[in-house]
Amino acid sequence: MSFQSLGLSADLLRAVAAQGYSTPTPVQREAIPAILEGRDVLAGAQTGTGKTAGFALPLLQRLAAGCRAHDDDGRKRSGPVRALILTPTRELAAQVAESVRTYGKYLPLKCAVVYGGVNINPQIAALRRGVDIVVATPGRLLDHVSQRTVDLSQLDILVLDEADRMLDMGFIHDIRKILALLPRRRQNLLFSATFPDEIKTLAGSFLVSPQLIQVARQSCAAEGIAQVVHPVDRERKRELLSWLIGSQNWRQVLVFTRTKHGANRLAKQLQQDGLNAAAIHGNKSQGARTRALAEFKDGTVRVLVATDIAARGLDIDQLPHVVNFELPHVAEDYVHRIGRTGRAGNEGEAVSLVCVDEAGLLHGIERLLGQRIARLAISGYEPDPSIKAAPILNGRSGGKLRGHGGSPRHARNYASPRGRPSRSGHGGSRARA
Ligand code: AMP
Repeated sequence: MSFQSLGLSADLLRAVAAQGYSTPTPVQREAIPAILEGRDVLAGAQTGTGKTAGFALPLLQRLAAGCRAHDDDGRKRSGPVRALILTPTRELAAQVAESVRTYGKYLPLKCAVVYGGVNINPQIAALRRGVDIVVATPGRLLDHVSQRTVDLSQLDILVLDEADRMLDMGFIHDIRKILALLPRRRQNLLFSATFPDEIKTLAGSFLVSPQLIQVARQSCAAEGIAQVVHPVDRERKRELLSWLIGSQNWRQVLVFTRTKHGANRLAKQLQQDGLNAAAIHGNKSQGARTRALAEFKDGTVRVLVATDIAARGLDIDQLPHVVNFELPHVAEDYVHRIGRTGRAGNEGEAVSLVCVDEAGLLHGIERLLGQRIARLAISGYEPDPSIKAAPILNGRSGGKLRGHGGSPRHARNYASPRGRPSRSGHGGSRARA
């Protein structure tokens, strides 16, 4: 199937071709015709499935067709906002806006992005000049509403992107407030990776006979991703990670930790190991987050250490390796994390470094996936069986019992760089598995 057969206009087909897309992804095949027809859509699609183009392309086409925001002579008139795309995080908002601008580059439509953590005045100025599409995080959008710097009364299309994550982040009240500001007659599109009851209730409250689209089974890990668990002692994870990156010459790797503090600490330690690493999490300023992401994308930063919320929706092309330095508390987050690799048909590898404390978390993830993930002990890093599981407190493995269980062997290996295995030892171990 081609993009032409989906009913997209020549201007959009040009933009799609310029991106190098030749065939629509499954979510695009289903979503584009339904949205062009004006239907509400309820789509179960993870990041990496091409869902952004799945809603952005038909949204742009519908807005361009009903170009209310232009005079007959084609001059831009500053009009009210016609489409609103809500996202859970600033990074995702910025990325979605970038995609909308890319796909809409041959159309006379304007897009503004609105999120917190940055000066509100440039956003006010952009909104005043008149925009057709606003991509926003809920909190900052409501700031604009209260300052009367945005008019949503003429909205035609509403998109909730990554709705499950918006609810996880506590945005339900903000979303309800925003829904109450919109005209009753409009088109609604809801995209969510998972469908917990809260999402079903929300969807039922405002979608009208939606077209249901489910491209990947709920909680099923994206295809094309090789998953492996390396069992390792909690205190040796960092050492093993550095070694994996170096010995296998990983060009670029996204590493997940459970906490912001853990992300900072790990990035610093990796830098001490001579790896160019940066941390990205909610306590960093917007400028620092944008810079870290840009440096990761251009290859200056080799290791990006991220928390779940900060990494949500990051669009990094063809990321070959994702590492779970710590398993997430919520099993669904594992699926989201590994969705950063193997995107849009590329192969990827998801590596989890799992210590004895995380046996329960691993079990929960495997139950969700409905499959067992292969265990592969790396020669020289096999876990010390005398180390006992300790509770994970405040996201921190080992909890109060840190330091407990350090056997003489463990202590020796950790302290001495000579404890590192040789390249051949590692290769042999993988080959045997
Ligand atoms: P998304 O799921 O929207 O975050 O998209 C994931 C990635 O797939 C992005 O890098 C898009 O540029 C890319 N992509 C989207 N649609 C296609 C397509 N039809 N062919 C190839 N790549 C695509």
